[in-house]
Formats: sequence, C-alpha cells, structure tokens
Amino acid sequence: MRGRRKGTLVADAVESAWDVSRETSVDSALEEDELPGTDTPIARAARRALDIRSGAVTMPAPREPRVLCVANQKGGVGKTTTAVNIGVALALGGLRVLGIDLEPQGNASGALGVERTVGTPSIYEVLLGEIDARDAVQICPDAPNLSCIPATLGLAGAEIELVSLVARESRLQKAIADIRADYDYVFIDCPPSLGLLTVNAMVATSEVLIPIQCEYYALEGLGQLLRNIDMVRKHLNPAIDLSTILLTMYDGRTKLADQVAAEVRSHFKEAVLTTVIPRSVKVSEAPGFSQSVLTYDPGSRGAMSYLDAAREIADYGAKER
Ligand code: ADP
Ligand code: MG
Repeated sequence: MRGRRKGTLVADAVESAWDVSRETSVDSALEEDELPGTDTPIARAARRALDIRSGAVTMPAPREPRVLCVANQKGGVGKTTTAVNIGVALALGGLRVLGIDLEPQGNASGALGVERTVGTPSIYEVLLGEIDARDAVQICPDAPNLSCIPATLGLAGAEIELVSLVARESRLQKAIADIRADYDYVFIDCPPSLGLLTVNAMVATSEVLIPIQCEYYALEGLGQLLRNIDMVRKHLNPAIDLSTILLTMYDGRTKLADQVAAEVRSHFKEAVLTTVIPRSVKVSEAPGFSQSVLTYDPGSRGAMSYLDAAREIADYGAKER
C-alpha cells in the first residue's frame, strides 16, 4: 500500500479494480438472491444494496422540519455531491425532501435528474419574486417524495441583480416560508462564494452543513466562513446553527487525510459526523448519468457512506433535545 497516492494512474486503477471486484460480488450475491451471512465488507455492501433497491431503507422523521444549507466558499469540496446524496438517501428512507439548487451551474439539479434548460421555472425567478416557489418545484425521477427547485444559468446574474432589491438578504427565506413545512428536510446547495446567494441561503436556514475535503488547505478559508455565519446570526438570523460537518473525499492511503480529519474533529467536536465519505470513482461518475451514487451504484462504498451519513443526520433530527 505504501507509496500510493491518490490521483495517480496506479491509485485510480487500484480503486477501480477494488470497485469492480466488490461490485461483481455484490451483483452476484444479489442475483442469486442469497446474501452472504458473514460480516465482510462485501456482505455488508450486498445487504445494503439490496435494502436500497428493494426500498427497505427507513429513516426517522425529524421532530421539526429541518432546513440545511450546504455551504463552503471553496469550490470542489463536495457541497453539491453532499446535498444531492444526503437528500436522496433521506428520501429513499421515506422522508419528504426538497433540494434547492442555488448554484448557477445547476449541478445539483442535473444530478437529481430534473429539467434545467433556460426557460424552466427556477430558483432565479423565485428569488426575483416573479413566481411562487411552489411553481418551480419539480419531482425527481428517482423518488416521488424527492423534489427539487432547479437552477438555470440565469442565476449567474442574480448576485448582482439582488443587490438593488428590497430585503435582498431574506428573499429566499420569504419565498420558501410557505412550503418548508411540506418537507421533512430542505437542502440548499450553495455556490462557492460568500456572496448574496449564500447569505440568502443562510438566512433561510436553521442549520449549516459544511463539507470539508480531507486535503491540504482544507481548513484555509474556514475562518472566514465561520465569521460569516456569526455575522448572519448577529444581524439576520439568530437561529442559525452550524450543526453538521462532513468530511469528504477521504483517502485512507494518505496520512494527510487522517491529520485533516483529526484536526477538524478536535475543533468542531460533535458537529462532525462519524461517517467519512471516501474518495470514490463511483461518486464522481454518478452525476454524469443524472443520478446520485445511491441509485447509480447502491453497493458502492460511496453509496454506503452517504447512506450512513444521512442516517446520522436523521437520527440527530429525530432526537429529543
Ligand atoms: P462543490 O459543490 O463543493 O463545488 P462537488 O460536489 O461538485 O463540489 O464536487 C467536486 C468534484 O468532486 C465533482 O466532480 C464531484 O463529482 C467530485 N466528488 C465529490 N465527492 C467525491 C468523492 N467522495 N469521491 C470522488 N469524487 C468526488
Ligand atoms: Mg457545487
């Protein structure tokens, strides 16, 4: 194992080989309709893949509807991937979930398989007050209890257009006030900046979920994000809580990943989910098929870890406090 580094041809090939061998075993176990009884990773994967495929996953409902914004001004840390996969996992578990795509690229809308071509009613028109949030909601093909308000490229201009509007920081909050109670969970996928769109998300939420990539420089810029959350708490939304941190793209072959994880845990303590999302080819492939990793490859490590992370989030929401 020593000497292998992520991103190298060898490392990628090894990971693919691991996935292929595991996948073959999972698939054959499922085909034979007989799950291995032993407690090996493959047996666990097969059992869970079967649960996902057969709809046997259940998640506890939250005591109150929860709105989480998935934020980090760094790009490429797994915000969109996390919003999508946690949302899908909770929906597969029977909860009513709404994803709000607040990122002009519309990657979350794409992964959730909803329409996002120019002209589709989207979060942009909702923010400008041109349409009702309810009229922009689409049901995702993957699950009837999973919906999405998509983003189209038009949203790219919103940061600037919002500046001159009345109550510019609280437009999203007002827009979703009427529909948030229709869902157990609302996830808002933020753009990689701390501009007005992210501020709107933070005002509309009760909780912030920060994905942190287990990489060098991962903690850089986090101070600024925390100061922003404090500022929003002070001036715009006293209820905002940094409730959840998820470590993403963990590569167990590097010491660095462990160091980053340990540092994040020592600083943020119980806000950090026990589950860590591994770096996995399947996770990055799924959006290319307009899918979450849970539907694209339910037996993969990526799917299992997002399912576990979603369960931790659901358990926390259901807990009496
Ligand atoms: P953000 O929304 O923070 O910009 P994304 O969720 O879009 O980040 O992720 C950035 C890139 O990394 C995407 O190409 C995504 O598919 C990939 N990615 C995210 N999580 C993982 C993972 N656990 N393993 C491998 N690739 C990942
Ligand atoms: Mg994103």
